[in-house]
Amino acid sequence: MTTGKLELSGITKSYGARRVLDDVSFQVAPGRLTGFVGGNGAGKTTTMRIVLGLLSADGGRVELDGSPLTAEDRRHFGYMPEERGLYPKMKVLEQIVYLARLHGFSKTDAAARATALLTELGLDARLNDTIESLSLGNQQRAQVAASLVHDPEVLILDEPFSGLDPLAVDVVAGVLQASAAKGAAILFSSHQLDVVERLCDDLVILAGGTIRAAGSRDALRAEHAGDRYELVSAGDAGWLRTEPGITVLDFEGGYALFEAESAETAQRVLRAAVDRGDVASFAPKHPSLAQIFKEVIQ
Ligand code: ADP
Repeated sequence: MTTGKLELSGITKSYGARRVLDDVSFQVAPGRLTGFVGGNGAGKTTTMRIVLGLLSADGGRVELDGSPLTAEDRRHFGYMPEERGLYPKMKVLEQIVYLARLHGFSKTDAAARATALLTELGLDARLNDTIESLSLGNQQRAQVAASLVHDPEVLILDEPFSGLDPLAVDVVAGVLQASAAKGAAILFSSHQLDVVERLCDDLVILAGGTIRAAGSRDALRAEHAGDRYELVSAGDAGWLRTEPGITVLDFEGGYALFEAESAETAQRVLRAAVDRGDVASFAPKHPSLAQIFKEVIQ
């Protein structure tokens, strides 16, 4: 598989007088999973449809490795739309083989590829069942198989985890990670911030059609870490409340969460805690993605 970096620059889109995307720019790097988050109506689906060429932008560029996207590039893209699109009466294996054939696989290769992918997605016992007879979660696994059947270079998934139980989330996540490990650039939207947090390498946060944050998950976390620290000690942590230079945010027994005015202050507090004995743990407290999300969209 050839791999490429997908890059959006200054994308704008209006419906009538209403601007729904305003100067949207971000990258989706090969070999990485990029989580695309934002509330309902933020513009995620519109952005994805523009990348796929299903909708045209009013302005801006979508490029693959620095060149404008062509129809041929898009043939190597995979897409899982929010409105699912498999044939209800078709059998699962037959459906995926059919799609593989459309992508030019020989009969034998299509069958092998489809069987392997469906097995990876845990559908090996359902190959000869019709799509409509599957549970919604299993239909969704089949939909993931459909988007991956041609080993896409760029994979765009609209809410691939919605409605999946935790086990199925792990199965689908594993398949996406394997695809990224082979070099695919993957963009997926999700409302499940805990899943996004666990899975993604990079994050794009959209609100009201504008990008509020974009970059690596770890950098974003570090950026929003502030100077919060968590101390767990065997004794009572109440003495922290009178320490200068810190604000105790949460406190119970030996547990305390506090904000320090500087890293030096935090180190001083740690030494004081050690002098008192029984420090079980001391660490900077990183906010969850849900907290970061709330902060950046405000
Ligand atoms: P998301 O996927 O983040 O929920 P969408 O991209 O679906 O957001 O929608 C972004 C905004 O564009 C919403 O306010 C939505 O109502 C509006 N919108 C989407 N499609 C159309 C359309 N065909 N005509 C008019 N407005 C639309």
